[in-house]
Amino acid sequence: MTPCEHVPTLLPTEIVVRDQDIIGGYTTDFRKKYVGQSPALLRPRSTEEVAEIVKLCSRHGVALVPVGGNTGYCGGATPDGSGQQLLISLQRMNKVREIDADNLSITVDAGCILSDIHKAAAEESLMFPLSLGSQQSCQIGGNISTNAGGVSALRYGITRDLVLGLEVVLPDGQILSNLSPLRKDNRGYALHQLLIGAEGSLGIVTGASMRLFLPPISRVTGFLAIREISDLMPLLAKAQQYTGEAVTSFEYISDTSLELLLAKKPELRRPIADPSSHYVLIEAVTSSPILPLDHAMEAFFEDGMSEELVTDGVIAASEQQRNDFWNLREHIPEGEVLNGGSVKHDVSVRSSDMGRFIEMGSSLVERYGGGARLSIYGHVGDGNVHFNVLAPQGVDASAFLEKVSTEVSPRIYDLVAKMEGSFSAEYGLGQDKMPLNKHYGDPIKRDLMNALKTVFDPQKIMNPGKVVPTRIETASEKEVSCL
Ligand SMILES: Cc1cc2nc3c(=O)[nH]c(=O)nc-3n(C[C@H](O)[C@H](O)[C@H](O)COP(=O)(O)OP(=O)(O)OC[C@H]3O[C@@H](n4cnc5c(N)ncnc54)[C@H](O)[C@@H]3O)c2cc1C
Repeated sequence: MTPCEHVPTLLPTEIVVRDQDIIGGYTTDFRKKYVGQSPALLRPRSTEEVAEIVKLCSRHGVALVPVGGNTGYCGGATPDGSGQQLLISLQRMNKVREIDADNLSITVDAGCILSDIHKAAAEESLMFPLSLGSQQSCQIGGNISTNAGGVSALRYGITRDLVLGLEVVLPDGQILSNLSPLRKDNRGYALHQLLIGAEGSLGIVTGASMRLFLPPISRVTGFLAIREISDLMPLLAKAQQYTGEAVTSFEYISDTSLELLLAKKPELRRPIADPSSHYVLIEAVTSSPILPLDHAMEAFFEDGMSEELVTDGVIAASEQQRNDFWNLREHIPEGEVLNGGSVKHDVSVRSSDMGRFIEMGSSLVERYGGGARLSIYGHVGDGNVHFNVLAPQGVDASAFLEKVSTEVSPRIYDLVAKMEGSFSAEYGLGQDKMPLNKHYGDPIKRDLMNALKTVFDPQKIMNPGKVVPTRIETASEKEVSCL
């Protein structure tokens, strides 16, 4: 028996799952790009049980892979193929521990599903603003560990901005309890910030205190056709000015992204009848009962039309129409899958460079030729765009995309680097972007990350092979040394 098989035998049987039909749901990543193996999935019921598991793993030198909702795009939650890594899921740790309405804060178990946190906040007439297409299944522990962005980051910030304190089980099994929901707390290093975006490589997040906000009282959502890609950011600036920075979402959607989706889902409708090359889904909210947001948005819209930044548009007249707009935006990744999949580039540049990046990247793909299709969309208000390349219809998509990833992707990433942007805007490094980090990442930062990993996790048992490169002992080496 290997140490990895041995550790589960030391745990209460109720928290160990060995059924490979269940485990199989966690050994392949969301995009089905990575497939691993694990002999057991551990489902602790409390922070103390997590600590017990981690202590045992530390004692026996067994690697642990935390998995949340398994919606990540970089294979961060997928074990390797050795069958010698244990999976740990916090799905049973899904309680709201406290809502302090006066302090505008919520403290939760890390296994809470994101949409359940929305509901809990709403029951107290408050709002938790992190919002992603995967919110019905991703867990807040996963959101924190990937530092998720989402569709409201423009106004409320990314996860890093929303977290006030964390409870973490460190790789030696100690519990670092820093759940204080204080807005100001300068007692030395903000260690919890290191865990945000660490993708499970420094410890297991078991609880979080986070900021809440007043819920919107009015909301205006528009779907606009825009003239030129270079008009994107001037348009956002205008919207911010008219609404007093009430814009929460500013999502770019290329016509190709829409076309790909509508071709496969004819039940969905174009919000604007005349096709345009570029669209923006814009949403602004206010929690003020007296500020006339609808007037501000109408004035913005009229100004945009008169300056010919906006060529057409529609403001949602009902909740249903708003949902229809968002439905289109959220199903774009599915549209790509239904059209043979894509090579994804989740990149960010300065907002001021966004138009130029999209233009230069598009002509780069055009020059490559072969009929490659480009699906471009994303949270451009945050300087983040999904610049995805699809195969033309009628060719072997997987062979074509393979060539794209070796021949086109490097040029796209070179362009991003030249613009001092990021090759990973939202999704992290996981195992997918480790080679990119080696090529484009700052070597001094890489060294510091490796050093931090060693301080937190000298045995390299926490999610090995993700975020920082590591060589852990092979299963047979462990077998000799640990039992
Ligand atoms: C339809 C769709 C839309 C999406 N939209 C967005 C978006 O707008 N913005 C965005 O940023 N992402 C988006 N994503 C990506 C994904 O949903 C996010 O990265 C999300 O935060 C992952 O959460 P999860 O619970 O599924 O984590 P998982 O995928 O299970 O895990 C992600 C990483 O976190 C680690 N981890 C999980 N739980 C813990 C824990 N408790 N402690 C320590 N480490 C842990 C895992 O080991 C892994 O490295 C989208 C995905 C889908 C499928």
